Amino acid sequence: MQEENNPQKRCLKCLLREMSQEAYMENLYSYINRLDEDIKADKALYEERLSVCKECGYLADGMCRACGCFVELRAVIANNSCSYGKW
Ligand code: SF4
Repeated sequence: MQEENNPQKRCLKCLLREMSQEAYMENLYSYINRLDEDIKADKALYEERLSVCKECGYLADGMCRACGCFVELRAVIANNSCSYGKW
């Protein structure tokens, strides 16, 4: 199939383990970029939250080991909070 061989075509049916790290990051950020601005934290709050995560012992490979989420995804939603009350 032609679409499957096109590296520019985004796979909607791939599991994370089937994606390259670059494709995976692209998917994550493309998802964040498509979120409704009304539900997103403003940039300053987003960066503040991520700086807290960066110093936290639960952060591992972009994931929070306390809640299992991707911190960049969790932090971008204005109404979300850290499971451990750190932000
Ligand atoms: S969400 Fe909270 S517990 Fe998880 S890595 Fe960030 S600061 Fe740490």
